[in-house]
Amino acid sequence: MTSLASDTPAPDTLAPGTLAPGDAGTPPAARHLIDGTWTGEPTTERRNPARPAELAALSPSGTVEDADAAVTAAARAQPAWAALPAPSRGAVLLRAASLLDIRSLDIASDLVREEGKTFAEATGEVKRAADVLRFFGSLGWAPSGDVLPSATPGTTITTRREPLGVFALITPWNFPLAIPAWKAAPALVSGNAVVLKPAELTPLSATHLARALHDAGVPAGVFNVVHGKGRVVGEALARDERIAGLSFTGSTAVGLHLKGILDARRARVQLEMGGKNAVLVLDDADPGAAAAVVAAGAFGLTGQACTATSRVYVTPGVRDAFVEALVLEARAYTPGDGLDGARMGAVVSEAQLAQDAAAVRGAVERGATLLAGTHDVDASQGLLFPPAVLTQMSPDDPAATDEIFGPVVAVLDVPDYEAGLAAVNSSRYGLTAGICTDSLALATDFAARAQAGVVKINRPTSGLDLNVPFGGVKDSSTNTFREQGRAAVEFYTWGKTVYLGV
Ligand code: ADP
Repeated sequence: MTSLASDTPAPDTLAPGTLAPGDAGTPPAARHLIDGTWTGEPTTERRNPARPAELAALSPSGTVEDADAAVTAAARAQPAWAALPAPSRGAVLLRAASLLDIRSLDIASDLVREEGKTFAEATGEVKRAADVLRFFGSLGWAPSGDVLPSATPGTTITTRREPLGVFALITPWNFPLAIPAWKAAPALVSGNAVVLKPAELTPLSATHLARALHDAGVPAGVFNVVHGKGRVVGEALARDERIAGLSFTGSTAVGLHLKGILDARRARVQLEMGGKNAVLVLDDADPGAAAAVVAAGAFGLTGQACTATSRVYVTPGVRDAFVEALVLEARAYTPGDGLDGARMGAVVSEAQLAQDAAAVRGAVERGATLLAGTHDVDASQGLLFPPAVLTQMSPDDPAATDEIFGPVVAVLDVPDYEAGLAAVNSSRYGLTAGICTDSLALATDFAARAQAGVVKINRPTSGLDLNVPFGGVKDSSTNTFREQGRAAVEFYTWGKTVYLGV
């Protein structure tokens, strides 16, 4: 068996292809990383969603005892890690970033095989994870805290940010490398220890991150990974009183359940959950450009992003030209195997494929018109779902209100800007919102009044730079601490004010 989590790091000897599935006839195997040691019998199988006959990965299924051991190790290791100079902590992240760069080809290939996205999306994600580690690694050198004047003579006031201790990170399968990286990096550079519980469907990507950090010299116990079921490992971490805070990305139902547990003991919690992101297309928009913006947001990443576009409101003057252009765009996103150069990747699981098909079928049965795509899919040759464009439905149709998490877009007619803005804001979610218009006045008004954590003007709802605060409102997020960029550090630290009299 090719072991992904080798005890002999030697990063420079990892030639591309070393870990490729098929080596010695077995797929890569993920392991837990607990207290600096790779453990766990990798017995859980993961199949390649684009090629269901192919075994993509093996991973261990963690127990409550594994979670307990990881938290014990993290609690023991954290004080010494916090006592290191911040640039020394940052240096570990910078070395890990270089290792991700060196191993990019292998990691991206594993990511495609276990998650199904395209190779371009996967290499972009590996680069993003490396850049995130570089961004937060370099913060080890950045100024931190303020110097404030005091009304008392001979007194200087400073502010400091202190680490909280041990953080649990529970992450989803859709960005299985980048999300763990953008949660772990600010936690680590701030002096915390981490226990990561990655999604069951994507164990290899998280293990690649763990291996990069391990090989970069993160001390034993400071970064731990425990694979396994959410309701076993994730639940055990959430309930462990030694966990000072939890950062979660996933479904709204699970997120709110975890928040109840953390709130009960006043631990810190950050949730990034669902979305039903809308774009408003106005008469003055170029229909072709607007269709390209909507298609990139709706069909990129196979629609499997919490920031994906899934509702479009369009005003009468541009409606027909926009819909015609969107259907052409949709037909150009042909799904296939990401390692064969497909424009659109596979759907992650049979359950997700069934959810995508059921959403489209339900809308059609209620009277919607399906202009592109199908709800009649055969999963035996791969979990492939062509982009779907739905029109002529009620604004209350579930396809227009519920998160689907697939390449399905509902196009709804609105009479004017005000009605469109009201429709955008009618959702229970508020993650991202977009508008396509040439009007500076309306774009500015939309930026102010859209109920969403991120507003995109003439740009796809999905895709963010790594340095921007990210999070939503309403049922999309706890709407307290933001992720990513410098803002992320606030969640992983607490503020202290120091008076110095000399
Ligand atoms: P998705 O629908 O995207 O899989 P989930 O919310 O089910 O979203 O899963 C996101 C993450 O939460 C995964 O790592 C999963 O294992 C974990 N998880 C699921 N249920 C629980 C739970 N009851 N407690 C803790 N973690 C959970």
